[in-house]
Amino acid sequence: MPKQQTDASPAKDWRLEQLEAYPHLRGVAFVRKPYRAYSPRWDHDHCAACWAKLATWDFIPDALHEGYATTRDYVKGADYIWVCVPCFDEFREIMSWEDVTLRSVK
Ligand SMILES: [Zn+2]
Repeated sequence: MPKQQTDASPAKDWRLEQLEAYPHLRGVAFVRKPYRAYSPRWDHDHCAACWAKLATWDFIPDALHEGYATTRDYVKGADYIWVCVPCFDEFREIMSWEDVTLRSVK
């Protein structure tokens, strides 16, 4: 048997704590797309949950280049919050997120 965490204490996932620190992040819509900087003065972002780095290919080749971003319905606007794909899959239910990627394709 590989060594496993046997501690069954209901310690809260630290990534979820990150997400819950944002006051407006519950129940919002996200679109999956290639990373794009929110502001021209920024060259990268972090996943709001696990803090993985998201950047465009030319700036940081070993960062993530795709993720889920908020839409313009979000209080701070489109592309303000980024979440990496694994975190989106893991927390979408608990955070009541909606994936509107298909709806945004014209
Ligand atoms: Zn993440």
